[in-house]
Amino acid sequence: MTQRVCIVGGGVIGLASAYALVREGFEVTLVEAQQSFASQTSFANGGQLSYRYVAPLADAGVPWQALGWMLRGDSPLKLRPRLDPAQWRWLLGFLGACRRSVNQRNASHLLRLALLSQATLQAWRDEDGLDGFDWRRNGKLVTFRQPGSFEHARRHLADSRQQQVLSHAECAQLEPTLQDAPFVGGIFTPDEEVADCHAFCQQLVARLRASGRCEFLLGRSVTGIRHSAGTVQAIELGRETLAVEHLVLAAGHRSPELALPGLKLPLYPLKGYSLSVPIGQQHQAPQISITDYNRKIVYARIGQQLRVAAMVDIVGFDPALDPKRLALMRRQARETFADAGDYAAAIEWAGMRPATPSGVPLIGATAYRNLWLNLGHGALGFTLACGSGRLLGELLGQRPTAIDMQGLAPRAA
Ligand SMILES: Cc1cc2nc3c(=O)[nH]c(=O)nc-3n(C[C@H](O)[C@H](O)[C@H](O)COP(=O)(O)OP(=O)(O)OC[C@H]3O[C@@H](n4cnc5c(N)ncnc54)[C@H](O)[C@@H]3O)c2cc1C
Repeated sequence: MTQRVCIVGGGVIGLASAYALVREGFEVTLVEAQQSFASQTSFANGGQLSYRYVAPLADAGVPWQALGWMLRGDSPLKLRPRLDPAQWRWLLGFLGACRRSVNQRNASHLLRLALLSQATLQAWRDEDGLDGFDWRRNGKLVTFRQPGSFEHARRHLADSRQQQVLSHAECAQLEPTLQDAPFVGGIFTPDEEVADCHAFCQQLVARLRASGRCEFLLGRSVTGIRHSAGTVQAIELGRETLAVEHLVLAAGHRSPELALPGLKLPLYPLKGYSLSVPIGQQHQAPQISITDYNRKIVYARIGQQLRVAAMVDIVGFDPALDPKRLALMRRQARETFADAGDYAAAIEWAGMRPATPSGVPLIGATAYRNLWLNLGHGALGFTLACGSGRLLGELLGQRPTAIDMQGLAPRAA
């Protein structure tokens, strides 16, 4: 008999999970609090499918580096301590993960998942004809302003067969818009991809609707989960309840509000910003995705827009735009790519990355028999969505998973 899975959250993770589950033969009910899909963190993110740049933020030396950053007016990181135990627990967990060996172990889990994601998106594009989201394999160039950080990066390449170390002149030859930018060199990864995350989500919704196997409950907020003897029985939607057979939590940074006794969901929002800059005939925007390593800004051309994304603000749950942070991003983007687009007409956006302290998401079964997690993808949710959805489908379908779940399974977290 066909099993029905209820998913909480209609961002890129919930939708990719729904798509993978329908492909596995399940029927799905997807519940989303907002009136539209992917209107929260999956709306206007950096657009980078950054499969080989997955090292977690937590690393040896990062706490000191972070202190140095925060003394500067143009810091990519902002910390506003709050009277919130969740923030302190998260910061302590983050400090605990700031060790080289832990970083390397977590990076290897993320790389395994990222490469599975790349293969899964390729399969969905090839086998299902999934398109219409400005996908390109345009390559990614990480550029360095400081010789020291360039030297360090060239000595620690994630994948030396896939990555090329380039001088400033070679960078400019590859991407002419970098001609006058003050970079000493870069590392180019040709296989990296870019796409519009929001448009990708809309395509998944269209396919799910057409499948006849997915029911959507839009504008419905899950307010509680009923359980008994280690089994989830129903979700509460205000005064209504809906019985569930299996439940998947994919509610991004809001997921901890739905935690059950004994279930640890160590998530905290890392706020970031983007600018969507219209590109006209007269403009010269980069074709390759660029990461300005020292300023921690990413640039990606998505259709006729240049998406500029940056900042990690640990400031609580308020999603409001911060004009000072956006002004800094706009100034730095203009300095680097002066003619890339109409900055005056840029659309500003802020999103909350659902981050675990280690940077590794939680995917799979919990101590509750029929409760599953797919959350905590932090800065890499778009990159990791297809692989995470696929793993969840395989786990629920009781099939062997395509990759080893070590480090990714919630119970081991
Ligand atoms: C500035 C910025 C740049 C980024 N750039 C990139 C990038 O280049 N590449 C990349 O891979 N990733 C990037 N990311 C990260 C990526 O956007 C996120 O990891 C991803 O969008 C998270 O998806 P999600 O589905 O978990 O969360 P969301 O998109 O937030 O979706 C969660 C959904 O759950 C719903 N929900 C919450 N609570 C409830 C409830 N109680 N009942 C019902 N529904 C509920 C919410 O309304 C929301 O729609 C970036 C993020 C930011 C902020």
